[in-house]
Amino acid sequence: PHPTVAIIGRPNVGKSTLFNRLVGKRLALVDDQPGVTRDRREGDANLLGLEFRIVDTAGFEDQDVATLPGRMRVQTEAAVEDADVALFMVDARAGIVPLDEEIARWLRVTSTPVILVANKAEGRAGETGVIEAMALGFGDPIPLSAEHGEGVVDLFDALRPYV
Ligand code: GDP
Ligand code: MG
Repeated sequence: PHPTVAIIGRPNVGKSTLFNRLVGKRLALVDDQPGVTRDRREGDANLLGLEFRIVDTAGFEDQDVATLPGRMRVQTEAAVEDADVALFMVDARAGIVPLDEEIARWLRVTSTPVILVANKAEGRAGETGVIEAMALGFGDPIPLSAEHGEGVVDLFDALRPYV
């Protein structure tokens, strides 16, 4: 079986956009098991020939916002625990917000390797966010544009040791 990459991050940073780009039409299943796994989408990803299983932690965007942190935490912890590597995505245009810092705190205590990606980094609008993301403690972020397909070579290089 291929190794598993989990895309982690607060809502609206572009996780599903990256998932869709990497999986294309190869979406294998929507897990309908009870509990947290129902919010996961999994698929077979291909990134410039690099093949791996990818998990999008999704499905909670329409939940009551008051319950979001708890649900996100459960999601994040379960997905990260099961993954060989976590892609921690932030929004370079929005910059770092408290929820990103909270997720960073959870990720810091896991043994799963973390790759930090700053999405929506097409153009100059993302520069400040990329710099802010350096303070999260996961090294220099990989600037990415999931929507426009920019940064995929750097993402390939970052993932390659793990998958
Ligand atoms: P998720 O909640 O983290 O899964 O985020 P989505 O993938 O649903 O994307 C949230 C919004 O960000 C959507 O409107 C996307 O079109 C937009 N988005 C995703 N990737 C990019 C990107 O690379 N650049 C820009 N400018 N917008 C993006
Ligand atoms: Mg999503």
